[in-house]
Amino acid sequence: MSVEVEVLGGAREVGRASIAVRYRGRVLLLDAGVNFDEEDRPIFARTVPPRDVDGIVLTHAHLDHIGTAPAYYITYQPPVVATKPTFEMARLMWTDFLKLNGYYSMYEDAEVKRLMEAAVYARYYSPMRIGEDFVVTLYPAGHIPGSAMVLVEVGGRRILYTGDVNTIYTKLMEPARVDGMPDVDLMIMEATYGSSTHPPRRVVEERLIGIIEEVVDRGGTVLIPAFSISRGQEVMMVLAERDLGIDVAVDGMIRQVTEVFLENPSYIRNVDLLVKAREEFHFVQGWQDRRKVWRKPGVIIASAGMLKGGPSLYYLRKLMGNPKNAIVMVSFQAPGTPGRRILEEGVFSETEEPVKARVEWLDFSSHADKRGLLELVARVKPRKVLVVHSESNTADYFAKLVRERLGVEAEVAEEDRRYRVE
Ligand SMILES: [Zn+2]
Ligand SMILES: [Zn+2]
Repeated sequence: MSVEVEVLGGAREVGRASIAVRYRGRVLLLDAGVNFDEEDRPIFARTVPPRDVDGIVLTHAHLDHIGTAPAYYITYQPPVVATKPTFEMARLMWTDFLKLNGYYSMYEDAEVKRLMEAAVYARYYSPMRIGEDFVVTLYPAGHIPGSAMVLVEVGGRRILYTGDVNTIYTKLMEPARVDGMPDVDLMIMEATYGSSTHPPRRVVEERLIGIIEEVVDRGGTVLIPAFSISRGQEVMMVLAERDLGIDVAVDGMIRQVTEVFLENPSYIRNVDLLVKAREEFHFVQGWQDRRKVWRKPGVIIASAGMLKGGPSLYYLRKLMGNPKNAIVMVSFQAPGTPGRRILEEGVFSETEEPVKARVEWLDFSSHADKRGLLELVARVKPRKVLVVHSESNTADYFAKLVRERLGVEAEVAEEDRRYRVE
Protein backbone atom coordinates (compact mmCIF):
# COMPACT_ATOMS: atom_id res chain seq x y z
CA MET A 1 0.00 0.00 0.00
CA SER A 2 1.56 3.30 -1.02
CA VAL A 3 1.15 6.70 0.54
CA GLU A 4 0.47 9.43 -2.00
CA VAL A 5 0.31 13.20 -1.85
CA GLU A 6 -1.79 15.29 -4.21
CA VAL A 7 -1.70 19.08 -4.30
CA LEU A 8 -5.26 20.37 -4.73
CA GLY A 9 -4.29 24.05 -4.69
CA GLY A 10 -1.28 26.26 -4.04
CA ALA A 11 1.08 24.68 -6.57
CA ARG A 12 3.20 27.47 -8.12
CA GLU A 13 0.79 29.89 -6.43
CA VAL A 14 0.63 31.80 -3.14
CA GLY A 15 -2.78 31.00 -1.73
CA ARG A 16 -5.53 28.37 -2.21
CA ALA A 17 -3.47 25.92 -0.14
CA SER A 18 -4.83 22.37 -0.03
CA ILE A 19 -3.15 18.98 0.09
CA ALA A 20 -4.62 15.48 0.05
CA VAL A 21 -2.66 12.67 1.69
CA ARG A 22 -3.98 9.36 0.32
CA TYR A 23 -3.70 5.89 1.79
CA ARG A 24 -5.86 2.77 1.20
CA GLY A 25 -8.51 4.83 -0.60
CA ARG A 26 -8.89 7.25 2.30
CA VAL A 27 -7.87 10.92 2.38
CA LEU A 28 -6.46 13.20 5.06
CA LEU A 29 -6.86 16.79 3.94
CA LEU A 30 -4.31 19.42 4.98
CA ASP A 31 -5.82 22.92 4.59
CA ALA A 32 -8.47 23.94 2.06
CA GLY A 33 -8.02 27.58 1.11
CA VAL A 34 -9.10 30.15 -1.46
CA ASN A 35 -7.43 32.71 -3.64
CA PHE A 36 -8.95 35.74 -5.39
CA ASP A 37 -8.91 36.70 -9.07
CA GLU A 38 -8.35 40.22 -10.47
CA GLU A 39 -12.02 41.09 -10.00
CA ASP A 40 -11.65 39.96 -6.40
CA ARG A 41 -13.87 36.89 -6.85
CA PRO A 42 -12.90 33.77 -4.91
CA ILE A 43 -11.12 30.89 -6.61
CA PHE A 44 -11.62 27.77 -4.50
CA ALA A 45 -9.15 24.91 -4.14
CA ARG A 46 -10.02 21.68 -5.99
CA THR A 47 -11.93 19.29 -3.75
CA VAL A 48 -12.04 15.51 -3.35
CA PRO A 49 -15.30 13.66 -2.63
CA PRO A 50 -16.12 14.44 1.04
CA ARG A 51 -17.15 10.81 1.68
CA ASP A 52 -13.51 9.77 1.09
CA VAL A 53 -12.18 12.20 3.71
CA ASP A 54 -11.23 10.81 7.13
CA GLY A 55 -10.47 14.28 8.48
CA ILE A 56 -9.23 17.78 7.79
CA VAL A 57 -6.35 19.59 9.50
CA LEU A 58 -6.30 23.40 9.32
CA THR A 59 -2.84 24.86 9.90
CA HIS A 60 -3.99 28.42 10.62
CA ALA A 61 -6.84 30.87 10.18
CA HIS A 62 -5.81 32.77 7.04
CA LEU A 63 -8.40 32.48 4.26
CA ASP A 64 -5.87 31.12 1.78
CA HIS A 65 -5.76 28.01 4.04
CA ILE A 66 -9.37 27.69 5.25
CA GLY A 67 -11.65 29.37 2.68
CA THR A 68 -12.71 26.14 0.93
CA ALA A 69 -12.99 23.93 4.05
CA PRO A 70 -16.73 24.44 4.82
CA ALA A 71 -17.55 23.08 1.33
CA TYR A 72 -16.80 19.59 2.74
CA TYR A 73 -19.71 19.94 5.19
CA ILE A 74 -22.70 20.07 2.84
CA THR A 75 -23.68 16.41 3.36
CA TYR A 76 -20.76 14.89 5.32
CA GLN A 77 -19.18 15.95 8.58
CA PRO A 78 -15.58 14.75 8.82
CA PRO A 79 -13.65 15.74 11.99
CA VAL A 80 -11.62 18.92 11.61
CA VAL A 81 -8.48 19.44 13.67
CA ALA A 82 -6.86 22.78 14.58
CA THR A 83 -5.76 24.76 17.61
CA LYS A 84 -8.33 26.67 19.64
CA PRO A 85 -7.33 30.17 18.44
CA THR A 86 -7.36 28.93 14.84
CA PHE A 87 -11.00 27.85 15.20
CA GLU A 88 -11.99 31.08 16.94
CA MET A 89 -10.40 33.27 14.27
CA ALA A 90 -11.51 31.02 11.41
CA ARG A 91 -15.11 31.52 12.43
CA LEU A 92 -14.66 35.32 12.16
CA MET A 93 -12.94 34.90 8.80
CA TRP A 94 -15.65 32.65 7.29
CA THR A 95 -18.40 35.01 8.43
CA ASP A 96 -16.59 37.97 6.90
CA PHE A 97 -15.84 35.98 3.72
CA LEU A 98 -19.53 35.10 3.26
CA LYS A 99 -20.58 38.69 3.87
CA LEU A 100 -18.32 39.84 1.01
CA ASN A 101 -18.43 36.81 -1.33
CA GLY A 102 -21.64 34.95 -0.45
CA TYR A 103 -22.90 35.19 -4.02
CA TYR A 104 -19.90 33.26 -5.39
CA SER A 105 -19.48 30.87 -2.50
CA MET A 106 -19.68 27.05 -2.61
CA TYR A 107 -21.15 27.06 0.91
CA GLU A 108 -23.17 29.14 3.35
CA ASP A 109 -23.39 29.82 7.09
CA ALA A 110 -25.07 26.43 7.67
CA GLU A 111 -21.92 24.61 6.47
CA VAL A 112 -19.68 26.76 8.67
CA LYS A 113 -21.88 25.78 11.61
CA ARG A 114 -21.67 22.07 10.70
CA LEU A 115 -17.89 22.36 10.42
CA MET A 116 -17.64 23.94 13.87
CA GLU A 117 -19.72 21.05 15.29
CA ALA A 118 -17.03 18.66 14.00
CA ALA A 119 -14.17 20.69 15.53
CA VAL A 120 -11.49 18.78 17.44
CA TYR A 121 -9.18 21.09 19.41
CA ALA A 122 -5.55 20.08 19.19
CA ARG A 123 -2.51 21.10 21.20
CA TYR A 124 1.05 21.22 19.95
CA TYR A 125 3.13 18.04 20.33
CA SER A 126 0.12 15.78 21.14
CA PRO A 127 -0.35 13.02 18.55
CA MET A 128 -3.94 12.47 17.48
CA ARG A 129 -5.44 9.61 15.46
CA ILE A 130 -7.72 10.47 12.53
CA GLY A 131 -9.65 7.64 10.87
CA GLU A 132 -7.99 4.21 11.02
CA ASP A 133 -4.60 5.03 9.59
CA PHE A 134 -3.60 8.66 10.05
CA VAL A 135 -1.81 10.06 13.09
CA VAL A 136 -1.17 13.81 13.16
CA THR A 137 0.96 15.94 15.47
CA LEU A 138 1.01 19.74 15.38
CA TYR A 139 4.21 21.75 15.87
CA PRO A 140 4.38 25.56 16.40
CA ALA A 141 4.83 27.32 13.04
CA GLY A 142 5.70 30.83 14.31
CA HIS A 143 3.51 32.45 11.64
CA ILE A 144 0.44 33.73 13.54
CA PRO A 145 -1.05 32.74 16.93
CA GLY A 146 -2.32 29.16 16.78
CA SER A 147 -0.50 28.40 13.54
CA ALA A 148 0.87 24.88 13.16
CA MET A 149 3.03 22.64 11.06
CA VAL A 150 1.52 19.17 10.68
CA LEU A 151 3.43 15.92 10.99
CA VAL A 152 1.42 13.09 9.40
CA GLU A 153 2.32 9.47 10.12
CA VAL A 154 0.63 6.93 7.85
CA GLY A 155 1.51 3.58 6.26
CA GLY A 156 5.04 3.65 7.73
CA ARG A 157 5.79 7.06 6.19
CA ARG A 158 6.18 10.51 7.73
CA ILE A 159 5.14 13.71 6.00
CA LEU A 160 5.70 17.20 7.38
CA TYR A 161 3.54 19.99 5.99
CA THR A 162 4.78 23.42 7.11
CA GLY A 163 1.66 25.46 6.36
CA ASP A 164 2.92 29.04 6.56
CA VAL A 165 6.02 29.32 8.69
CA ASN A 166 8.24 31.92 10.32
CA THR A 167 11.64 31.30 11.89
CA ILE A 168 12.35 34.59 13.67
CA TYR A 169 11.17 36.13 16.94
CA THR A 170 8.55 38.84 16.47
CA LYS A 171 6.74 40.77 19.20
CA LEU A 172 3.79 38.42 18.87
CA MET A 173 5.38 35.07 18.05
CA GLU A 174 8.11 32.64 18.98
CA PRO A 175 9.78 31.05 15.94
CA ALA A 176 8.76 27.69 14.44
CA ARG A 177 9.94 24.68 16.45
CA VAL A 178 11.02 21.30 15.12
CA ASP A 179 13.10 19.97 18.03
CA GLY A 180 12.37 16.36 18.84
CA MET A 181 10.74 15.74 15.48
CA PRO A 182 11.32 12.22 14.15
CA ASP A 183 12.79 11.57 10.68
CA VAL A 184 10.68 12.92 7.86
CA ASP A 185 10.32 11.27 4.43
CA LEU A 186 8.62 14.17 2.67
CA MET A 187 8.58 17.83 3.70
CA ILE A 188 5.88 19.83 1.92
CA MET A 189 6.91 23.40 2.44
CA GLU A 190 5.83 26.93 1.72
CA ALA A 191 8.35 29.19 -0.01
CA THR A 192 6.49 32.49 -0.31
CA TYR A 193 9.79 34.36 0.16
CA GLY A 194 12.05 31.57 -1.10
CA SER A 195 14.09 34.00 -3.19
CA SER A 196 14.27 37.07 -0.95
CA THR A 197 15.82 38.29 2.29
CA HIS A 198 13.93 40.32 4.87
CA PRO A 199 15.78 43.19 6.59
CA PRO A 200 16.41 42.65 10.33
CA ARG A 201 13.17 43.19 12.25
CA ARG A 202 14.76 45.71 14.59
CA VAL A 203 15.65 47.97 11.65
CA VAL A 204 12.10 47.82 10.29
CA GLU A 205 10.66 48.68 13.71
CA GLU A 206 12.98 51.69 14.11
CA ARG A 207 12.02 52.94 10.70
CA LEU A 208 8.30 52.73 11.55
CA ILE A 209 8.85 54.68 14.78
CA GLY A 210 10.93 57.28 12.91
CA ILE A 211 8.22 57.89 10.32
CA ILE A 212 5.50 58.15 12.99
CA GLU A 213 7.47 60.66 15.06
CA GLU A 214 8.26 62.83 12.03
CA VAL A 215 4.67 62.91 10.80
CA VAL A 216 2.99 63.43 14.17
CA ASP A 217 5.51 66.13 15.19
CA ARG A 218 4.36 68.13 12.17
CA GLY A 219 0.70 67.69 13.13
CA GLY A 220 -0.07 64.85 10.73
CA THR A 221 -1.87 61.53 11.10
CA VAL A 222 -0.37 58.16 10.16
CA LEU A 223 -2.70 55.52 8.72
CA ILE A 224 -1.41 51.97 9.00
CA PRO A 225 -3.65 49.61 7.02
CA ALA A 226 -3.05 46.14 8.50
CA PHE A 227 -4.34 42.57 8.25
CA SER A 228 -6.78 41.75 11.06
CA ILE A 229 -4.88 38.66 12.14
CA SER A 230 -1.41 39.33 13.56
CA ARG A 231 -0.05 42.25 11.57
CA GLY A 232 -2.33 44.75 13.28
CA GLN A 233 -1.46 43.38 16.72
CA GLU A 234 2.26 43.17 15.88
CA VAL A 235 2.28 46.89 15.06
CA MET A 236 0.27 47.65 18.24
CA MET A 237 2.92 45.84 20.29
CA VAL A 238 5.83 47.59 18.55
CA LEU A 239 4.23 50.95 19.48
CA ALA A 240 3.22 49.89 23.00
CA GLU A 241 6.79 48.88 23.82
CA ARG A 242 8.07 52.43 23.27
CA ASP A 243 5.82 54.78 25.27
CA LEU A 244 5.75 57.33 22.46
CA GLY A 245 3.17 59.61 24.04
CA ILE A 246 1.24 59.57 20.76
CA ASP A 247 -2.50 58.80 20.40
CA VAL A 248 -3.09 55.42 18.76
CA ALA A 249 -6.52 54.33 17.50
CA VAL A 250 -7.38 50.77 16.41
CA ASP A 251 -10.30 49.98 14.11
CA GLY A 252 -11.85 47.11 12.13
CA MET A 253 -11.70 43.35 12.66
CA ILE A 254 -8.28 43.80 14.32
CA ARG A 255 -10.29 44.62 17.48
CA GLN A 256 -12.14 41.27 17.64
CA VAL A 257 -9.01 39.29 16.76
CA THR A 258 -7.13 41.09 19.56
CA GLU A 259 -9.76 39.82 22.01
CA VAL A 260 -9.27 36.25 20.68
CA PHE A 261 -5.51 36.59 21.24
CA LEU A 262 -5.99 37.88 24.78
CA GLU A 263 -8.24 34.89 25.56
CA ASN A 264 -5.49 32.51 24.35
CA PRO A 265 -2.41 33.98 26.04
CA SER A 266 -0.32 30.81 25.81
CA TYR A 267 -0.18 31.25 22.02
CA ILE A 268 1.37 34.74 22.29
CA ARG A 269 5.07 35.36 22.95
CA ASN A 270 4.67 38.48 25.07
CA VAL A 271 1.06 38.82 26.14
CA ASP A 272 1.81 41.62 28.64
CA LEU A 273 2.74 43.90 25.77
CA LEU A 274 -0.55 43.15 24.01
CA VAL A 275 -2.46 43.78 27.25
CA LYS A 276 -0.65 47.12 27.55
CA ALA A 277 -1.60 48.04 23.98
CA ARG A 278 -5.22 47.03 24.61
CA GLU A 279 -5.33 49.26 27.70
CA GLU A 280 -3.53 52.29 26.31
CA PHE A 281 -4.82 52.46 22.75
CA HIS A 282 -8.25 53.66 21.72
CA PHE A 283 -10.46 50.93 20.19
CA VAL A 284 -12.85 52.79 17.87
CA GLN A 285 -16.52 52.27 18.72
CA GLY A 286 -18.87 52.89 15.81
CA TRP A 287 -19.31 55.65 13.28
CA GLN A 288 -19.61 58.66 15.55
CA ASP A 289 -16.23 57.80 16.99
CA ARG A 290 -14.73 56.95 13.58
CA ARG A 291 -15.66 60.35 12.15
CA LYS A 292 -13.73 62.10 14.93
CA VAL A 293 -10.63 59.99 15.33
CA TRP A 294 -8.73 60.98 12.14
CA ARG A 295 -9.07 64.73 12.77
CA LYS A 296 -6.24 64.89 15.30
CA PRO A 297 -2.55 64.00 15.01
CA GLY A 298 -1.74 60.40 15.87
CA VAL A 299 -1.69 56.86 14.52
CA ILE A 300 -4.61 54.82 13.20
CA ILE A 301 -4.17 51.06 12.76
CA ALA A 302 -7.09 49.71 10.73
CA SER A 303 -8.09 46.71 8.63
CA ALA A 304 -8.19 45.85 5.76
CA GLY A 305 -4.50 45.58 5.02
CA MET A 306 -4.63 46.10 1.24
CA LEU A 307 -7.21 48.93 1.44
CA LYS A 308 -9.84 46.79 -0.34
CA GLY A 309 -12.50 47.75 2.20
CA GLY A 310 -13.12 48.10 5.92
CA PRO A 311 -12.32 51.22 7.98
CA SER A 312 -8.81 51.59 6.48
CA LEU A 313 -10.48 52.61 3.20
CA TYR A 314 -12.61 55.20 4.99
CA TYR A 315 -9.56 56.71 6.70
CA LEU A 316 -7.60 56.69 3.44
CA ARG A 317 -10.26 58.85 1.76
CA LYS A 318 -10.08 61.31 4.65
CA LEU A 319 -6.28 61.46 5.01
CA MET A 320 -4.83 61.03 1.51
CA GLY A 321 -5.35 64.62 0.32
CA ASN A 322 -3.05 66.23 2.92
CA PRO A 323 0.74 65.98 2.51
CA LYS A 324 1.15 66.32 6.28
CA ASN A 325 -0.33 62.80 6.70
CA ALA A 326 1.21 59.43 5.88
CA ILE A 327 -0.01 56.04 4.72
CA VAL A 328 2.36 53.33 5.97
CA MET A 329 1.75 49.88 4.54
CA VAL A 330 3.06 46.99 6.59
CA SER A 331 1.69 44.07 4.58
CA PHE A 332 2.18 42.47 1.19
CA GLN A 333 0.04 44.33 -1.38
CA ALA A 334 -1.36 41.92 -3.97
CA PRO A 335 -1.44 42.99 -7.63
CA GLY A 336 -4.73 44.65 -8.50
CA THR A 337 -5.46 45.92 -4.97
CA PRO A 338 -5.87 49.64 -4.14
CA GLY A 339 -2.83 49.38 -1.87
CA ARG A 340 -0.58 48.17 -4.70
CA ARG A 341 -1.78 50.94 -7.02
CA ILE A 342 -1.03 53.60 -4.39
CA LEU A 343 2.46 52.18 -3.85
CA GLU A 344 3.31 51.91 -7.52
CA GLU A 345 1.53 54.91 -9.05
CA GLY A 346 0.51 57.12 -6.14
CA VAL A 347 -3.09 57.02 -7.36
CA PHE A 348 -6.29 56.09 -5.50
CA SER A 349 -8.22 53.68 -7.78
CA GLU A 350 -11.71 54.67 -6.66
CA THR A 351 -11.42 58.30 -7.77
CA GLU A 352 -8.21 58.29 -9.87
CA GLU A 353 -6.99 61.12 -7.63
CA PRO A 354 -3.31 61.45 -6.70
CA VAL A 355 -2.45 60.57 -3.13
CA LYS A 356 -0.78 63.63 -1.59
CA ALA A 357 0.03 62.03 1.76
CA ARG A 358 3.45 60.45 2.21
CA VAL A 359 3.39 56.76 1.24
CA GLU A 360 5.72 54.14 2.72
CA TRP A 361 6.02 50.35 2.70
CA LEU A 362 7.72 48.37 5.45
CA ASP A 363 8.63 44.68 5.47
CA PHE A 364 6.91 43.21 8.57
CA SER A 365 6.55 39.79 6.94
CA SER A 366 5.30 36.83 8.99
CA HIS A 367 6.90 34.33 6.58
CA ALA A 368 10.44 33.02 6.77
CA ASP A 369 12.78 34.32 4.08
CA LYS A 370 15.22 32.29 1.96
CA ARG A 371 17.71 31.92 4.81
CA GLY A 372 15.07 30.94 7.37
CA LEU A 373 13.50 28.39 5.04
CA LEU A 374 16.86 26.80 4.24
CA GLU A 375 17.72 26.60 7.94
CA LEU A 376 14.41 24.88 8.59
CA VAL A 377 15.09 22.24 5.92
CA ALA A 378 18.58 21.76 7.34
CA ARG A 379 17.13 21.13 10.79
CA VAL A 380 14.37 18.74 9.67
CA LYS A 381 16.70 16.90 7.24
CA PRO A 382 13.89 15.35 5.20
CA ARG A 383 14.55 12.79 2.45
CA LYS A 384 12.72 14.99 0.00
CA VAL A 385 11.22 18.50 -0.24
CA LEU A 386 8.11 19.41 -2.22
CA VAL A 387 7.71 23.20 -2.69
CA VAL A 388 4.22 24.76 -2.52
CA HIS A 389 2.69 28.19 -1.69
CA SER A 390 5.16 30.11 -3.85
CA GLU A 391 5.12 31.93 -7.17
CA SER A 392 6.48 29.85 -10.03
CA ASN A 393 9.93 31.47 -10.44
CA THR A 394 10.51 31.70 -6.71
CA ALA A 395 9.53 28.04 -6.29
CA ASP A 396 11.99 26.90 -8.98
CA TYR A 397 14.75 29.04 -7.49
CA PHE A 398 14.16 27.74 -3.98
CA ALA A 399 13.99 24.05 -5.01
CA LYS A 400 17.33 24.49 -6.78
CA LEU A 401 18.79 26.14 -3.68
CA VAL A 402 17.73 23.18 -1.52
CA ARG A 403 19.31 20.72 -3.94
CA GLU A 404 22.57 22.66 -4.34
CA ARG A 405 23.13 24.04 -0.86
CA LEU A 406 21.79 21.16 1.21
CA GLY A 407 22.04 18.21 -1.17
CA VAL A 408 18.42 17.32 -0.43
CA GLU A 409 16.15 16.13 -3.24
CA ALA A 410 13.64 18.90 -3.99
CA GLU A 411 10.99 19.59 -6.56
CA VAL A 412 8.21 22.08 -7.18
CA ALA A 413 4.72 20.65 -6.76
CA GLU A 414 2.41 20.54 -9.77
CA GLU A 415 -1.33 20.39 -9.39
CA ASP A 416 -2.16 17.53 -11.74
CA ARG A 417 0.28 14.98 -10.27
CA ARG A 418 0.29 12.50 -7.45
CA TYR A 419 3.53 12.07 -5.48
CA ARG A 420 4.31 8.69 -4.04
CA VAL A 421 6.01 9.02 -0.65
CA GLU A 422 9.03 6.68 -0.68
ZN1 LIG B 1 -0.84 32.56 6.48
ZN1 LIG C 1 -0.75 31.22 3.23
